[in-house]
Amino acid sequence: MKKGFEITSPRITKRESLQLLKNADLLGLGMMADDLRKKLHSNNNVSFIIDRNINYTNVCINKCKFCAFYREKNDPDAYILSKRKLFHKIRETIKCNGTQILIQGGLHPDLDVDYYIDLLKSIKSKFDIHVHGFSPPEIYYMADKAGYTLKKTIQLLQEAGLDSIPGGGAEILSDRIREIVSPKKIGSRQWLKVMEEAHKLGMKTTATMMFGSVEGPQDIIDHLDAVRKLQDRTGGFTAFIPWSFQPGNTELGVKSLELSKATNSKLKTQNSKLQKPVTRHPLRSTATGVEYLRILALSRVYLDNVPNIQASWVTQGLKMAQVALRFGANDFGSTMLEENVVAAAGVKYRVTVEDIIGAIKSSGFKPVQRDMYYNIINSE
Ligand code: SF4
Repeated sequence: MKKGFEITSPRITKRESLQLLKNADLLGLGMMADDLRKKLHSNNNVSFIIDRNINYTNVCINKCKFCAFYREKNDPDAYILSKRKLFHKIRETIKCNGTQILIQGGLHPDLDVDYYIDLLKSIKSKFDIHVHGFSPPEIYYMADKAGYTLKKTIQLLQEAGLDSIPGGGAEILSDRIREIVSPKKIGSRQWLKVMEEAHKLGMKTTATMMFGSVEGPQDIIDHLDAVRKLQDRTGGFTAFIPWSFQPGNTELGVKSLELSKATNSKLKTQNSKLQKPVTRHPLRSTATGVEYLRILALSRVYLDNVPNIQASWVTQGLKMAQVALRFGANDFGSTMLEENVVAAAGVKYRVTVEDIIGAIKSSGFKPVQRDMYYNIINSE
């Protein structure tokens, strides 16, 4: 820790966290998170789930600036997945010992709540599989279009077979930042409201955070605080998943790059006069590995009421995910037999279940397969 810094209260405050995020040395912060991880998970297990991300449509009216996945309704590669294809994907998942599907999509203007109810019922009538689906922006959109309350909408989805809700669409829970990166998306209050209603109905959900775009340290702390406060009231979050913005093929990424290039050429002009080399990397437009580890560790420290913290191998790669296990993470998340959203940004870390098991073992932990509720369903 930086000299002179001590956490004074039993529960870390926002002010203390901000200091940690800005000033703590990386390894000191990592050790603090690792100690907390050991206290919460003394068995040395690192869990993972075998599942598949299925995107039922890539059409989305929100057009978030950080998203490389969405298409306009009339684009040649716009799609709505047929039930035949969806069922084929589920069969494949089950064949690979998968126990869950994560089903998410864009906000398609032609799909209404009845479409989702029918989709869920038809999945559940054919397969014994956990359906983790529809992030808060999708649920809010369904409710809004149908004129239903959030409670009624979630209840209908639950009755049709929805088991749990993924934490997508949180990005940064600061409306100042959301106005820049996803101005058409629901605000932070609505995201939290969907989660609260789901928790009240007994449904478990996860929480995510996307950082490394245009937010500052205070926005990150505000996000963590919003999740902690809701968790204090409901206890419904099973895990927290921080991941970094992937700029490839995105409007925000292009803007960052243009900004970076402009700054770079300005630096070049200045530096050529000074005969100095250019030091700024022109492609620096997201969080570095060090920033990822700092934020991950701080998440473990701040979210003392969220049992599990996931390492994001999908955005960081397996090697960084191994390091993350010493910075507060105790879970490797999904094996992602299929993933399209991060891949659309040009980031394609493809791994097998064996790769994940090997990575966990070689980091000194015991790999265990889990379900969405973190029950162990398979261990060697
Ligand atoms: S991030 Fe989600 S809500 Fe935003 S444009 Fe992409 S698919 Fe739509």
